[in-house]
Amino acid sequence: MAVKRKSTRVVVAPGTPFVLIPENISENKPESSGNQPITLGDASHALVVDKSEGGLGLKHSKNWNKALLGKYIWWIASKKDHLWVKWVSHVYLKGVHWSNYTPPVDCSWSWKKIAHLMCIFKPAYNGDAWLGKAVGYSVTEGYNWLRSPGTPVSWFKTYWNSLNIPRASFIFWIYKLGRLLTKDRLAHMEGVSDLNCFLCATEDENHGHLFFDCDFSSRCVSLLQLKLKAQFNPRDLVEWNRRGRRRSILIRRVICAGHIQLVYLIWQVRNQARIYSKVLHPAVLVKHLISDVCTRFQARNTSKLTREEEQWLQHIRH
Ligand SMILES: [Zn+2]
Repeated sequence: MAVKRKSTRVVVAPGTPFVLIPENISENKPESSGNQPITLGDASHALVVDKSEGGLGLKHSKNWNKALLGKYIWWIASKKDHLWVKWVSHVYLKGVHWSNYTPPVDCSWSWKKIAHLMCIFKPAYNGDAWLGKAVGYSVTEGYNWLRSPGTPVSWFKTYWNSLNIPRASFIFWIYKLGRLLTKDRLAHMEGVSDLNCFLCATEDENHGHLFFDCDFSSRCVSLLQLKLKAQFNPRDLVEWNRRGRRRSILIRRVICAGHIQLVYLIWQVRNQARIYSKVLHPAVLVKHLISDVCTRFQARNTSKLTREEEQWLQHIRH
């Protein structure tokens, strides 16, 4: 793809998928750092943190674009047999090693950006070898290097796995961040004065009350525990999952999926109560929940069931 700026020379290699975006890429440090804890005031950062580190796992667009353009640096470093590399070596580098190169003041905008990326990626090269390895550069590796991977969290497989319904996992993730727009938060943001809970109408609505001090929520938890034959702490699913080793992994995954779906459905029922002023009966909610979880399980499970697992699944279906 060719990028032209006024009458300046074209320096981007033809036929490549990379795009130079007109943004400020003058920083030497990556914008994101996975080492930062996910906090209430840092939700936008949490979006681009990897799922294994507690975030939502979206790509940071500026870093991703830099990682794509990092291919050019790799081509130059590895002296790729490509017409563009030969042209750049002849016209710009002129025998200077790329890691020591300073672009001329009157060169094109796009070449200045590529030259600046050389400064950014320079610490990742040992000589001309990417991360000192014999294998070449990849965009994923470049992106991971830019974002400085943080500390993995133990619970991400509980929150995000194939048996969980994705929309439920998403709401559960927001709930764990404390970002659901409950009335206490709306009062803070928009001055809402009526804080009465939509579901029980006896207490003020906030995260702690809705999950799971509310009479409606606690009845749902009790019914679900009875149905799943599992006495889990609804506020500490990960700890229960870690301790519940006597149950098979598959059963524990289904129970976790059920709990995550419960948070999603409580939030959904709460929103419906806000609009229609009607609250679903907890038994009906749990019935819908089991149906959703079993449908997902049938569609996604590929492992062979043991006799114990089959009996347990038959129990929760009826
Ligand atoms: Zn309530």
